[in-house]
Amino acid sequence: MLGSVQAEIMRLKKEKDICILAHSYQGYDIVEVADFTGDSYQLSVEASKVSQKTIIMCGVRFMAETVKILSPEKKVILANPVAGCPMAEQMDREMITKVKEEYPDYTVVAYINTSAELKTVCDVCVTSSSAVDIVNKIDNKNILFIPDCNLGAYVAGKVEGKNIKLLDGGCPIHAAVTAQDVVNAKKRYPRALVLAHPECTPEVLERADFIGSTSQILDYVNSSDHDEFLIGTEVGVVEHLQYTNPTKKVLPLSRKLVCPDMRVTTLNDVLNSVKGTGGEEIILPEDIIRDAAKSIEQMIRLGS
Ligand code: SF4
Repeated sequence: MLGSVQAEIMRLKKEKDICILAHSYQGYDIVEVADFTGDSYQLSVEASKVSQKTIIMCGVRFMAETVKILSPEKKVILANPVAGCPMAEQMDREMITKVKEEYPDYTVVAYINTSAELKTVCDVCVTSSSAVDIVNKIDNKNILFIPDCNLGAYVAGKVEGKNIKLLDGGCPIHAAVTAQDVVNAKKRYPRALVLAHPECTPEVLERADFIGSTSQILDYVNSSDHDEFLIGTEVGVVEHLQYTNPTKKVLPLSRKLVCPDMRVTTLNDVLNSVKGTGGEEIILPEDIIRDAAKSIEQMIRLGS
């Protein structure tokens, strides 16, 4: 049963014809009032298809920017303006422009977890689930993969005949998990399967039973006959799985897997955004939208 704040959000979003998006890492109270839950790319695609002209993104800034890039005619509100992503902010357009001068014959592949501005100097975006497939399809053996060197190293291990250059960047939350954390967790829960996101380090991935994106991890647990799992991605995913799989034991692989930026958005932020008294409208210059869209369109073309 919905609480009173949730009921008010549901009433207002219907009255004002607003669509609410919640990234899978958000708290379950927010997921319950959302029209769609998923990873950043899935949410952007859903937002581009809905009739609502106002979209509220419960997630971090680059996700709201991606929604805006794919639906420039819509009003896109980031529910809590403080929610950034340390990985998306590690590299900027100027830095990558300089690196490109050093590596002029490289195709720049950007994880979707990058700012709109950075996407304008990249050739193609990827998600964690499409990265291997898309890099394989690129008609150039030289690839500059940014910003996550862990995801990039994972992709490099899966593709053949590519020369993949990585930079020193990545998700500090996933990168904080160590091989020893996996050993300790497996000692405590020997029957549990370890499911890890490719943003984790190679040492952690080596010890995982399954490596996949957030949605692939969700699908794996939802469809598995096994009943005990250690989840190597942000704890929001653990919470979702515990609600949807009450008979299975679903635990975080490590206590370090808490992203403060993903936790910062509250139900009250969503309420204030729906009321029009909170959140921040994402405004992007037309040329940024146009140029950033090219790398996303290329991802869609190569991924299909
Ligand atoms: S979990 Fe990592 S990639 Fe996701 S928002 Fe937090 S810092 Fe960024």
